[in-house]
Amino acid sequence: MGDPLFEKTKYFIIDMDGTFYLDGNLIDGAMDFLTRVKELGKDFYFFTNNSSNNVAVCREKLRKMGCEVAEDKVIISSHVTTDYLNRFHKGKTVYLLGNERLTADFEAAGIPLVNAAPDIVVLGFDTTLTYQKLWDACRYIADGALYIATHPDLNCPTADGFMPDTGSMIAMIRASTGKEPLVMGKPHRYTVDYLTAYLGCTREELCFIGDRLETDILIGQKHNIPSVLVLTGVTDLAAYEKSEIRASAVEASLKSFAARL
Ligand SMILES: [Mg+2]
Repeated sequence: MGDPLFEKTKYFIIDMDGTFYLDGNLIDGAMDFLTRVKELGKDFYFFTNNSSNNVAVCREKLRKMGCEVAEDKVIISSHVTTDYLNRFHKGKTVYLLGNERLTADFEAAGIPLVNAAPDIVVLGFDTTLTYQKLWDACRYIADGALYIATHPDLNCPTADGFMPDTGSMIAMIRASTGKEPLVMGKPHRYTVDYLTAYLGCTREELCFIGDRLETDILIGQKHNIPSVLVLTGVTDLAAYEKSEIRASAVEASLKSFAARL
């Protein structure tokens, strides 16, 4: 043991899709990585920007692949968002663009949801988006409601291609209103602040692992936190070499990263 780069790391923050699993199967070496982390006396958490899922859905997905994790091990951009609202805008009314799972999470967090005249509009990965919802959101945002988005991903990978994600909805709302949201998920500082508070640690004690440069790796670069790019998902070496976004380390997979630790 050990690579000095990760000497201070207490918590590995692991992306899910393309990092830990792909198309419904664990990536080779994923479970061994968790074992290695524990052997080193360190710990891990999963973090996904995908606010169309809740913790139960993520855990069930992992369980079906043979990975059982406790409820507190799965963190979603929706947690960062509800925490931010409760910390800084307690009691303010929210018009939420989100599916039934995100809506339930907001209700559970005690966020007052309304359909008209909100103080705040929150845009999540709304897989039930309708024209009426989009129209209402644009009107409230144009009228001056605070505008927050859970995460910036343009597309969400699926087994057969991709789904347009929240970042694409941000682009649509920008075209209509000219407004930009505060974005909560990776790569933004709200996620870093949430994690350090949640885990009671410093930034240097985190390490992000993921397959997407603009989120999983940029969060490290922007906030001086180690990051590891794994080449098992959306980024290949050629794309990495062309990018200005720099990871602290590049690994073929979690398997090779485990061997390095
Ligand atoms: Mg990913």
